[in-house]
Amino acid sequence: MLNQRYPFVLRPLPYPYYALEPYIDRETLYFHHDKHQQAYVDNLNKALESYPEYQKYTLIELLEQEKMLPKEIQKSVHNNGGGVFNHNLYFDSMSPKSSGTPSGTLAAGIYKKYGSYDKFKERFKKTALEVFGSGYAWLMSDLQGDLIMLSAMNQDVPLELNLNPILLLDVWEHAYYLKYQNRRADYIDNWFLVIDWEKAENRYRNPEAIR
Ligand code: MN
Repeated sequence: MLNQRYPFVLRPLPYPYYALEPYIDRETLYFHHDKHQQAYVDNLNKALESYPEYQKYTLIELLEQEKMLPKEIQKSVHNNGGGVFNHNLYFDSMSPKSSGTPSGTLAAGIYKKYGSYDKFKERFKKTALEVFGSGYAWLMSDLQGDLIMLSAMNQDVPLELNLNPILLLDVWEHAYYLKYQNRRADYIDNWFLVIDWEKAENRYRNPEAIR
């Protein structure tokens, strides 16, 4: 997906709609992927339609260089390109075959920074609960491999911070409202049960994997 160029195509979900039940229900995943993410793909293509000189850019190149784009498409590329990128990472942060807890070098990084997996969860949950309105909680690493949590609004992608994305939790209401209504905390608690630690570890070890 990341090497794709205009016209962008919706990437298939890496698992069936029902695969994350009962934690993430099939109806939510269907709308989230087939309707919400599809709309970001369509609107990104629409923004680039009349700008052939930018149609050769990959998604990540568009996001990293958005300040150089023509003013009239900057916002749309930011919001919709971010929407495509963030949802790929969010869906890739989950798996029906979750190991339940981290392992390998990422587990070591988590213990080093947060002391224990439970403390990590507590901090990450707090980060996700603090997002006011729509946005995401990010787990990232810096160039030294130190872990960093941060929240971002809307479809912002904090690429300019030179951090490496490892896990992404979507806390827009559309990510949980059908099943959890206003209970964002319950959604977050259950999200921990479906984290794809294998892919997270891969991103931690190979920062270039995301590009
Ligand atoms: Mn979403």
